[in-house]
Amino acid sequence: MFESLKKKFSRTSEKLEEELIEEAEAEDNLQEESGSRFSFFSFGRKKDEKKEEEVVEEEENLLPEAEEIEEVPEAEEVEEIPEAEDEEIEEESKEEKKSRFWHRNKNKDEPAEEAEEAEDEEIEEEPKEEKKSHFWSRNKDKDEDAEDVSADGEAKGGIFSFVREKTIQEKHVEDILFELEMELLQGDVAMEVATEVVENVKENLVGKKIKRSNDITEYTYYALKDAVEEIISIPGKSMTEMIEEKKAQGEPLVVMFVGINGTGKTTTIGKLANYYLKKGYTPVIAASDTFRAGAIEQVTYHADNVGVKIIKHQKGSDPAAVAYDAVEHARAQGKELVLIDTAGRMQTNTNLMDEMKKIKRVSNPDLVIFVGDAITGNDATEQARKFNDAIDIDGVILTKADADSKGGASLSIGYVIQKPIMFLGVGQGYDDIMEYDPEWMLNQLFSEDEEIVENEA
Ligand code: GDP
Ligand code: GDP
Repeated sequence: MFESLKKKFSRTSEKLEEELIEEAEAEDNLQEESGSRFSFFSFGRKKDEKKEEEVVEEEENLLPEAEEIEEVPEAEEVEEIPEAEDEEIEEESKEEKKSRFWHRNKNKDEPAEEAEEAEDEEIEEEPKEEKKSHFWSRNKDKDEDAEDVSADGEAKGGIFSFVREKTIQEKHVEDILFELEMELLQGDVAMEVATEVVENVKENLVGKKIKRSNDITEYTYYALKDAVEEIISIPGKSMTEMIEEKKAQGEPLVVMFVGINGTGKTTTIGKLANYYLKKGYTPVIAASDTFRAGAIEQVTYHADNVGVKIIKHQKGSDPAAVAYDAVEHARAQGKELVLIDTAGRMQTNTNLMDEMKKIKRVSNPDLVIFVGDAITGNDATEQARKFNDAIDIDGVILTKADADSKGGASLSIGYVIQKPIMFLGVGQGYDDIMEYDPEWMLNQLFSEDEEIVENEA
């Protein structure tokens, strides 16, 4: 879901590298080094792996487990190795060989063919005589970067160090971060979020001392990751926790859903009824969108499919009364959860906001959840802001995360209103909902696995 954001992040690191190389070249402060260049997303696991590699080296054991050699999918490939690779391997230091094998073993779950392909490409593109100038040409041919990266997430060549250590200064990052900010805005990231991310990254990077090219990638990776983590980590209780707390008091948890039509509000209510039914609770739904033709039928359809009770009055009746009745029903029957559907005319409609206020006053919900469509990007963020201003919402559910390629709303919405995202809708089925976890989001954005999938696509 973050394809384009991820590209922007890794490009930021590359641009900073280019900037520093250029300056160092002019200062005659650059020297080539042997070794593997770390790709931006390989840092997600670098730390753990380094530890594992150290252990392997300490034991002076080429491979972690003898058995694994036989399992290596590329085993056949060894016989077919073109001459070029033979030479290449000879040129590698012993330590690198270890880590190459180690990576292969780690990646054995990947389809063998694809891994092989990636490796072959790498070899063909790297005739021996061009190797020396590889890191220079790499910087000129930005678009080919992805192909430099092998299946194990590392690239050959393009590694250098500074003769004299360099310090990242504001002038190095200014233009690059301005470009990033513009790109984030284009990706539907809210203005204040884009500004905050870029400010944090700048603060983090300026003053960092750089010795080797991999340092730049590493520092930029962590600066971006930390900045995004700060944005998306809005503290909040889980709904399940809240149900348990209310249950202990002999009360149902009352949840009111707000948001404009078409975002997936009724489907989401069906999904949550299903989710909590499967967890052993008994939800009841209130059909409090009495305004729109067909709304009562629509939410009744979901309630019937999932198998939960629905409280409804006729079309045009008082929505607050329906909500009130549903709460009373839950109390009388010992049901643990009340899910209140509401109308969703334009968010600028004052009558709608008044209606929401009234339902809220009468049903006294424990949670008011804004449901927004992730695909609508900034619109979803702006709607959340308006609902929050009018009726003070407690959390957000973003629907259609499965179909959202920008990710701008999911990055921004929680930060903008300072309320947590609680669930993500990830499809049209009743099981297509997941509890939101900032760590999961961060992994989507900063993990190498995603990047590999992306390269192959
Ligand atoms: P409402 O008007 O806000 O109640 O919207 P609906 O619940 O009727 O949903 C509108 C459309 O969005 C329907 O076709 C749903 O199947 C679809 N939808 C809802 N949630 C999701 C989701 O998480 N992913 C996808 N892909 N579609 C969804
Ligand atoms: P008002 O309409 O601005 O005066 O708001 P109130 O807070 O007085 O009541 C709001 C609505 O909630 C009323 O119009 C009733 O329809 C509904 N309501 C309030 N109390 C009850 C109740 O005990 N039972 C039912 N079914 N509805 C109630």
